[in-house]
Amino acid sequence: LYVDQPLGQGQAVALGADQAHYLFSVMRLAKGAAVALFNGRDGEWRAEVAEAGKRGGVLVCDRQTRALLMPPDLWLLFAPIKKARTDFIVEKAVEMGARRILPVQTRHTNSERIRQDRLQAHAVEAAEQCGGTYVPEVADLVALERLLAGWPEGRRILWCDESLVGAAQGLAGAEPGPWAILIGPEGGFSEGEKAKLRAMPAVLPVSLGPRILRADTAAVAALALWQAALGD
Ligand code: SAM
Repeated sequence: LYVDQPLGQGQAVALGADQAHYLFSVMRLAKGAAVALFNGRDGEWRAEVAEAGKRGGVLVCDRQTRALLMPPDLWLLFAPIKKARTDFIVEKAVEMGARRILPVQTRHTNSERIRQDRLQAHAVEAAEQCGGTYVPEVADLVALERLLAGWPEGRRILWCDESLVGAAQGLAGAEPGPWAILIGPEGGFSEGEKAKLRAMPAVLPVSLGPRILRADTAAVAALALWQAALGD
């Protein structure tokens, strides 16, 4: 269970109404039952139910069961698509071990706005589901142009470039350094964006195979490609 509170030996954790409902009504846990907690910072802790109420409760941390496992320093940049498919990308990025998720506005991005709080909640659920101890930050929508203008030195960009379809270009020999994967919108990148990306030394264009993939499939394929070549 994810809680946004400090975890440590003897630390009491107060539960809100939703969490109390889930643990005590849905899961039917009673006083003394053990619960695995994580907060994305302190690893995983075993805690015991000290108070169980209808509108709240208290858990007390007992011992750490797993240390914090940080995912590799990999960012996923993607142009948001339809709601359910955007949710899918966030969920898969957490499962596949991205450290930061950055929705980017491109020329042909279908949506102008995202619900960052909703996507962050999806990231928490995905971390709970896959047994992660870290929750990647989902950033607010930012214009690709602005992001590239202030791009951090040393971080390379794996640009999934649909115009390279068929040109086999793997990641063998690619530098290990911090990376970001960039996935375009359903309409692809504009000529201006492509020119800008081609001019950046940090950018490595890559093909994901001989067929055009949907953006959500491309995100999962690129995460798998990167993890196989450079992940841990
Ligand atoms: N409308 C574009 C076209 O017809 O050329 C296709 C865009 S594709 C649906 C969405 C994004 O997925 C692309 O911008 C790219 O980042 C990625 N993508 C899809 N297939 C790819 C491939 N075979 N190689 C590299 N990237 C791919």
